[in-house]
Amino acid sequence: MPIDSALGDDANPIDRVLDRAFDDHKPPDQALVDDCVHCGFCLPTCPTYVLWNEEMDSPRGRIVLMGEGLTEGSELSDTMVGHFDNCLGCMACVTACPSGVRYDLLIEDTRQQVERQHPRSRRERLLRRMVFATFPYPSRLRATVPLLVVLRRSGLLAGVQRLRLLQRLPTLRTLSELAPAVRLRDTVRRLPRRTLADGECRGTVGFLQGCVQRAYFGDVNAASVAVLAAEGFEVHAPHAPRCCGALGLHAGQEQDSLPLAKATIEAFEQYDHVVVNAAGCGSAIKDYGHLLRDDPEWSARAEAVAAKARDVHELLASVPARAPRGAIEMKVAYHDACHLAHAQGVRSQPRQLLRSIPGIELVEPKEWELCCGSAGIYNLTRPEAAAELGARKAENLLACEADAIAAANPGCTLQIAAHLKRLDRELPLLHPMQLLAQSIEAGRRAEPGVARIARATRRLRGSASRRRASGG
Ligand code: SF4
Ligand code: SF4
Repeated sequence: MPIDSALGDDANPIDRVLDRAFDDHKPPDQALVDDCVHCGFCLPTCPTYVLWNEEMDSPRGRIVLMGEGLTEGSELSDTMVGHFDNCLGCMACVTACPSGVRYDLLIEDTRQQVERQHPRSRRERLLRRMVFATFPYPSRLRATVPLLVVLRRSGLLAGVQRLRLLQRLPTLRTLSELAPAVRLRDTVRRLPRRTLADGECRGTVGFLQGCVQRAYFGDVNAASVAVLAAEGFEVHAPHAPRCCGALGLHAGQEQDSLPLAKATIEAFEQYDHVVVNAAGCGSAIKDYGHLLRDDPEWSARAEAVAAKARDVHELLASVPARAPRGAIEMKVAYHDACHLAHAQGVRSQPRQLLRSIPGIELVEPKEWELCCGSAGIYNLTRPEAAAELGARKAENLLACEADAIAAANPGCTLQIAAHLKRLDRELPLLHPMQLLAQSIEAGRRAEPGVARIARATRRLRGSASRRRASGG
């Protein structure tokens, strides 16, 4: 099939002649652009400005470009698109801005404009098509696992990574290095649809399994459910939707992300809390109100689900710990995932939970605020810049001389693992929920027999009263 037919028709759906760079469908809000007072406080935290020292690759410069795009007579030039594409969407500028500029909302709307109107090269379109036809589909990702296992065990993957040719093809090199070290048995494991709370129920949780997280990090999902149940939440883990739409939303693919957002709302609005353990997905769900703001049928439902969305650390840190903690003697460096620390403002909670584990020594890497370069599909679309950031992050983490790294986003985990390997220094990378689940398991084993019996009795009583209440 000719490449153009394979890619389909990418025609601009806005069928009119534009008198400025942006069309009228959700352009970036002029009032938000005007909030920027050009003080420059955000500049040192912006990874692209740190790398290139180029004003138009800073938040301030990009906001100026957005303002230009709203002006009559402006054009969406290749240069302008290049500066928007260079942005990682890490939201470090949002955290740093003393004037509260909502760069997150501005770049989301700008990216949608770019994807609708900017004709991309065949190579870029093909890459995007490939990514969006694979990553948001857990079943397709799972189908890659047997091949990954064979490539890894046979040494072929390492051989491919050593090929000189690959050094000249940075996107392929990145893809080969990001290949997760997943085990076959993890891909067949499924989460129970419902897991009862241990003891008196503190509320129902709709747990988002995610796409990449479900396919490649099933052990993280299992650990998260175990911790939530041990801390008194009844966990429901519906199989649908296959993805919450975060990957598409953060890349400006509005038409891809809308149906996934709606399916997520339908699946989760009945629960007390919507809980997410992947930073990018959590920030996307909290943004549903903005995404669906113009849709009269969905906007209120989107706002309601966004209001119930909690990162798993956020929910657990908001209630007194109930499950016993056993000791884990380990020095752990905590990596702040941008979509957790910057986009959701969740920094203290994962640290609080990790510090609740006896024996854990928590250490902080330098430049915590700088992105690791993963940033959704950024390490594939901008592999060189992403590699510089990945190397810098890996070196800062290694300088902590920790026994392990804790990170709460699958993209960061894969990116950091790839760059530790490039430096020939591999370290265990764990989600905080895995450490917490391990600690709770150890705590239970150490409980005196009488306490274990009391807990088992409470659990049985709890499930009996729930059965009575539901007429079962
Ligand atoms: S989102 Fe990140 S990369 Fe983009 S402008 Fe803000 S700080 Fe810079
Ligand atoms: S985004 Fe905020 S910190 Fe950056 S220049 Fe504008 S007002 Fe200053």
